[in-house]
Amino acid sequence: MWSSRLFWKLFVSYTVLNLAATVTFVVIVSGWQQDQVVEQIRQRLHDSAALVRSDVAAQLLTGPTEHLQSHVRRLGEEIGTRITLVAVNGDVLADSTKLNLSTVVQMENHKDRLELVRAAALGNGTSERISPTIGEPMLYVALRVDQDGAPAGFVRMALPMMAIRTQVRALQGLIWLVAILVSLAVVGLTYFVAARVARPVSSLTQAAEAVAAGDYQYPLFVRSNDEIGTLAKSFRRMSDRLEAREAQLRESSRRLVTVLEGMVEGVIALDDRERIVLANAAAGRLLGFSPAAAEGEPLLNVVRNHVIHEALARPGNHSGTQKLEIELGGDENRVLSFNVTMLSAEPSTRCILVLHDVTELRRLESLRQEFVANVSHELKTPLTSIKAYTETLLNGAIADEENNTKFVLRIEEQAERLHELILDMLSIARIESGQQTFDIGRVNLTDVVQSCIAEHLAAADAQHIILTTSDDSSEIHVRADQEGVRQILDNLVDNALNYTPDEGNVTVACRYEDSMVAIEVRDTGIGIGAEFLPRVFERFFRVDKARSRGLGGTGLGLSIVKHLAQSFHGTVDVASQVGEGTVFSVKLPRA
Ligand code: ADP
Repeated sequence: MWSSRLFWKLFVSYTVLNLAATVTFVVIVSGWQQDQVVEQIRQRLHDSAALVRSDVAAQLLTGPTEHLQSHVRRLGEEIGTRITLVAVNGDVLADSTKLNLSTVVQMENHKDRLELVRAAALGNGTSERISPTIGEPMLYVALRVDQDGAPAGFVRMALPMMAIRTQVRALQGLIWLVAILVSLAVVGLTYFVAARVARPVSSLTQAAEAVAAGDYQYPLFVRSNDEIGTLAKSFRRMSDRLEAREAQLRESSRRLVTVLEGMVEGVIALDDRERIVLANAAAGRLLGFSPAAAEGEPLLNVVRNHVIHEALARPGNHSGTQKLEIELGGDENRVLSFNVTMLSAEPSTRCILVLHDVTELRRLESLRQEFVANVSHELKTPLTSIKAYTETLLNGAIADEENNTKFVLRIEEQAERLHELILDMLSIARIESGQQTFDIGRVNLTDVVQSCIAEHLAAADAQHIILTTSDDSSEIHVRADQEGVRQILDNLVDNALNYTPDEGNVTVACRYEDSMVAIEVRDTGIGIGAEFLPRVFERFFRVDKARSRGLGGTGLGLSIVKHLAQSFHGTVDVASQVGEGTVFSVKLPRA
């Protein structure tokens, strides 16, 4: 409370007021009191003079006598006042301060004394002056004594001013004492009242500061029943409501943040100057910026993309939603779809951008289109041949005994190609869609390799190719589907024989590698250029289309191998050197 300015303002101002009032009161009252005392004494002297006048009036005309002197002296002692009797001509007839008549007679003439001059003129006169006789300041009151209508002399009473002043000072001291005591009481009361007013106000101020700083339950000790008490109660209710409202707000903003952060879509809100008001983590991830650091920054400082800039700057976009797609370029060449919604009625948030990563969607779309084009092309080639041979036969070649069988054999060959193609396509479709059911279990890889080699030996012999397996006698087991493993091996060995010129070598080797089994099909064939290696597992991809077709290839063999290996939780890889040969290695989990 000592630090409360309100307290000091109230206390100091009331104390100063109180002191000013006290001093003014004392000054006025003591001045008035002094006048009153002097007036009372003057009145008393006047009354005493009147009494003495009636007592000595008859003796004034007789001149100074010893009797008169002693009578006056006694009277003076009795009433404690100096009494002087003066003749009309100013001669002193008696004086209560003189011992005997002889000293009275020696006194100088009093005709010029101010009080006597006034009394001679008016009947009574007063003056305050230093007595030449006694040498002290005195208060004089003189009355004219008249006898038979003519002045007979004067009675003069005198009192030393010292005595009057002492009396006045005593009274003034009393007034000051009372005033000081009352002042002290008033100061105490002021302190009490100021503290009573200031304490709840400073308590309320502290509570208001605490509430502003977020402490809603700051203790508030105000128990009065007056307006300040009511204010404190209202304040408490208000801070309780504020606390509840803030908790609600915090909860809903937490929910909003959770939803926004959990979204796969990026969300960016911009204000009317295109500065970022809010951006979620997905938006930062998609456009490559830190959402926390970007808050308040202009979007175009954070994401330098002219398509977004144009979309936002386009005139007429004051409301509604527009959709646009942006290719970000770079290594991944990601494609983002933007929904730009303009909120014309909202000044703090002018625009909301919702971003979707459609890279995968667009890739799948282009794959589908490519696939359809490839399939149509692959189907068209044998069909065109079949159609051409059929037409040739119908146009008379059927009677050409030399060629007709050859033509029919060509038709069969092309039909077989079509059949192979459709089987491969169905196979891929089934594996990809997950409809193909595999009997996954322990497969004796050594047996499968042996039987595959046995089946391809004739073809290898025809090309004078040595087809061997690594002569490791131990048995190797994998965890896969037996038919699938056989299909993988057949495809790889087929290819190896197809793309290896006569007199070459094809080797199939199997070995354990940690938790996997590596199957290597190595040939000494034509090899594959490094630029084609990443694409050989794509559907319908061939390095040399004419050669592949000539060999009856469909362009789907390696794609089937890859899908099968993946279905068995394995991988497939290729390494090659043009003109030297190729190694395909498939890794499958060991059983
Ligand atoms: P294809 O039916 O044409 O053989 P694949 O999918 O099996 O289709 O093979 C794709 C392409 O990969 C082939 O056309 C060929 O150009 C290349 N290729 C596959 N295996 C080999 C290999 N052992 N040596 C050289 N090139 C190969």
